[in-house]
Amino acid sequence: MTTAIREEAKVEEDLKPVQLFVDCDDTLLIYDTHQTPNPYGHWRGQFWHPNLFLIGQITAFWSLNPTSGIYIWSGGGSDYARECSKVLNISHLVSGFLVKDITNFHLVRSGDIVVDDDNLDGIRTHSPEEIFIEENNLA
Ligand SMILES: [Mg+2]
Repeated sequence: MTTAIREEAKVEEDLKPVQLFVDCDDTLLIYDTHQTPNPYGHWRGQFWHPNLFLIGQITAFWSLNPTSGIYIWSGGGSDYARECSKVLNISHLVSGFLVKDITNFHLVRSGDIVVDDDNLDGIRTHSPEEIFIEENNLA
């Protein structure tokens, strides 16, 4: 790759809007007990409450960055991510519902925001309790 092409590729990368990836279990859905381990506790009827703080952050991100992608993903699969988004009433903000596994980790680019209760082999950037709007200068 020549220097000019490399620089062009870098400019394109810089121009891409930040993407937001958000996990479901123990991130958007906070389980009230951990006597029964999830995954996919919502489908199994485990009691939970919504992470209203995070939902507010997602809504703010969407308002401030309407062309950015917001992806809800889960190890439980894309259908589970879609169902969780539906019950949380955030589906209209979401660009895609994905299975969260190694087959999709390549979608995360440098500078993207990944909110998850797990570390995800080092790609997580924020825990479910963290503020990400201001510190990423997205406002
Ligand atoms: Mg989780």
